[in-house]
Amino acid sequence: MIATIRQMLRCHWSARRIQRYLDADPVARLAPAELRRLEEHLARCERCTAVVEEHRLLSRLLGGWTEFRAPDPRAVARLRATVDSLVADAL
Ligand SMILES: [Zn+2]
Repeated sequence: MIATIRQMLRCHWSARRIQRYLDADPVARLAPAELRRLEEHLARCERCTAVVEEHRLLSRLLGGWTEFRAPDPRAVARLRATVDSLVADAL
């Protein structure tokens, strides 16, 4: 029982720092002791490691969105001309 509560507290402590750990934001950097403690916990805790992996996957997926390229301007011009033509015919 005590071991379970200790584990829950460690996971709770870790969960509050995982985002900062992954962001590596210099403004909100973890203290070296916190970093060491978190990495030691992650090495032993499957649940918190799964949370880290989920965050990394989400970050990769969202990162792919920034690579979205605008459509070809020639295709946009053709589409606009077609719409203009349809509108003109309808009037
Ligand atoms: Zn944990």
